[in-house]
Amino acid sequence: MVERQIRARGLRTPAVLEAMAAVPRHLFVDESYIAQAYEDHPLPIGHGQTISQPYMVALLADALGPGPGDRVLDIGTGSGYQCAVLGRMAPWVVSVELVGGLASSAACVLRRLGYANVACIVGDGSTCGFLRTHFDCIGVAAAAPEIPAVYCDLLAEGGRLVLPVGSPGLQQLLRVRRLGGRFIEESLTSCVYVPLRGAGAGGRSDRFD
Ligand code: SAH
Repeated sequence: MVERQIRARGLRTPAVLEAMAAVPRHLFVDESYIAQAYEDHPLPIGHGQTISQPYMVALLADALGPGPGDRVLDIGTGSGYQCAVLGRMAPWVVSVELVGGLASSAACVLRRLGYANVACIVGDGSTCGFLRTHFDCIGVAAAAPEIPAVYCDLLAEGGRLVLPVGSPGLQQLLRVRRLGGRFIEESLTSCVYVPLRGAGAGGRSDRFD
């Protein structure tokens, strides 16, 4: 998976490749999908949601670039796979999931694998009203029509926000950097993610249903 899907597409950051090689992706999917766990596409994880394609997980982690002292916020825990990858690159990760059933099974797998530095919270990650700290990295695994304002507020100076923004069938993966009080936005690639729901998802989340 790492050689053919990630390195072959030009992603060479050692910390990302190491994390992707280390996390056992097959433990984050349902038994019936284990044989496909390392294939080059997303897979269903129940509740109408998906575990992202491995390359997209690697690309998001690479664009966030978490370093040794960085606090990471992961929105849309889903299976827990993306936050496990981030948990290998950063000292601590807070992951937020709207669907309680997904959050609890993700927390179970993460505990079993010993990710003591990853905290799973059930809540609306489109508003994050329960968070009181800034983050150096914010990764969002669900798409909104616009950048939810809360993520810019939660981003520390020098921090990176990576998220899909666009219409239900097609989005751009954006990276926003907070530098000197300014927000600098760049587009990384086209992508298709499941919709971000909740009160802060742009007020138009019904479009995604
Ligand atoms: N990172 C996940 C991908 C999950 S798909 C993985 O590696 O498996 C996106 C997830 O975002 C879904 O589980 C969905 O329930 C969740 N989600 C959607 N809107 C949300 C919100 N407002 N707050 C938190 N999670 C949300």
